[in-house]
Amino acid sequence: MNYEPVIGLEIHVEMLTESKMFCSCPVVDLTSAPPNSAVCPVCAGHPGTLPVPNVKAIEYGYMVAAALSCELATTSIFSRKNYFYPDLPKGYQITQYDHPIGQHGKITLFTSQGERHIRIRRVHLEEDTGKLTHAGSGKESHSLVDLNRSGVPLLEIVTEPDFHSAEEVRVYAEYLRALVRYLGVNSGDLEKGVMRIEPNISVRPVGDPKLGTKVEIKNLNSFRILEKGVDFEIQRHIQLLENGQPVLQETVGWDDTKQATYSQRSKEDAHDYRYFPEPDLPPITVDEAWLQELSAGLPESPWKKAERFMATYKLQTQEAWQLVSDLASANFFEAVLACSPFLPVRTVFSWVTGEMVALLGAQEKWFGDSPVSAQSLANLLDLVAKGDINQNTAKSILVEMAQSGKPAEQIVKDKNLVQVSDTVLITTFVRDAVVENPEEVASYRAGKTTVINFLFGQAMKKASGKANPQLMRAELERQLNNG
Ligand code: ADP
Ligand code: ZN
Ligand code: MG
Repeated sequence: MNYEPVIGLEIHVEMLTESKMFCSCPVVDLTSAPPNSAVCPVCAGHPGTLPVPNVKAIEYGYMVAAALSCELATTSIFSRKNYFYPDLPKGYQITQYDHPIGQHGKITLFTSQGERHIRIRRVHLEEDTGKLTHAGSGKESHSLVDLNRSGVPLLEIVTEPDFHSAEEVRVYAEYLRALVRYLGVNSGDLEKGVMRIEPNISVRPVGDPKLGTKVEIKNLNSFRILEKGVDFEIQRHIQLLENGQPVLQETVGWDDTKQATYSQRSKEDAHDYRYFPEPDLPPITVDEAWLQELSAGLPESPWKKAERFMATYKLQTQEAWQLVSDLASANFFEAVLACSPFLPVRTVFSWVTGEMVALLGAQEKWFGDSPVSAQSLANLLDLVAKGDINQNTAKSILVEMAQSGKPAEQIVKDKNLVQVSDTVLITTFVRDAVVENPEEVASYRAGKTTVINFLFGQAMKKASGKANPQLMRAELERQLNNG
């Protein structure tokens, strides 16, 4: 029997506002701020306190919903979702239930299997809970509560069950991360827990119109684990069905040491949250004109940019995403081409994603604070294109440019690095290399043609690395074959 995986995603994204959703406490980095250092009576859930909505968080939420082509609501309503847990001091979470800010969105993914259209079911605002840390063991076991995260603005984005592979799920999550970074509403630092992914997975016989029983994996914060977890569940479900056993509806977690999921809670202990409208908050209304202005003011989305890069620069999907997943690198790439429009796109692509990434990585910098500007890189690549210097020389000049801040032309002049294209000189360098290495020459002529690379290296050494490599290789082949 053939099976079809069906997956829907719930993603929680913290909104990187200055203050929390309903109080004026700052939103702090959980990994560095001392526990419970950003807490007030509101986010600690003291009785008698009143929530005051954060306009910026609402605006950020609408930006994401608009970028996902959602229908935007001019009126949205906050509700109480009631349940008890030690990380939720109020005993309820303020969230949006039947009137979210956005619904019925869509997004197109480019995967290795082609285009995929995913429907967004809803986008709604809520507040985050506190964070529990479980410590000790046996009699010493205890839990620590940090309320710094309590009340941090959170956006939940829920899709329809439109995914059919772990890859599609991963690509979607990557698109979303790129989006929230472009919009400046989230740092995208998954490892800090600012974006948490919950895939719902089921499997059904191909052709069956009915959905299978779903299992939800909770709180994943890495793309690698997301892909592995989804694949694991797909395989587990198929095994069960093959053995004639039912899939149980449950919530599971991922155990990275065992590389497997484990059961957290079954459908039987599912909550009834008793949602009702939050009596301390009025419906949130925004006007149509404001929504239109907000939509019109959105930056080009990462996927639109990827599409444009593929069409304009003839890049493959993978290559386009290598650039656009990070706005600064996409901008840098285009800036180099704007400075020097006649440079071959492939050259610029490989320098930006290769040499530049290596250079910046080594200095723990990025394109936004690059020591070599787009203009400087364009000038350097112009010298290569003109034949003034060869690629290898250019690579060492790039490093020097980053250190000294000097322009490429200056370094070429100062160090006398101009490429040797003089055929008489090249012929001499090659002849010397051939004469000095009779054994290698003999083995080349006996059929071991890879020896040519060694001889090429010897000849290039004589030219202090500055020879035009194409001319030198041609001359070497000529001498070896005719000699
Ligand atoms: P719940 O009420 O348990 O949260 P929902 O119906 O609200 O379930 O859906 C939550 C997420 O699970 C959505 O992304 C939805 O697309 C997805 N989903 C629902 N049913 C299935 C299913 N049978 N298989 C896979 N995904 C599903
Ligand atoms: Zn507070
Ligand atoms: Mg759910």
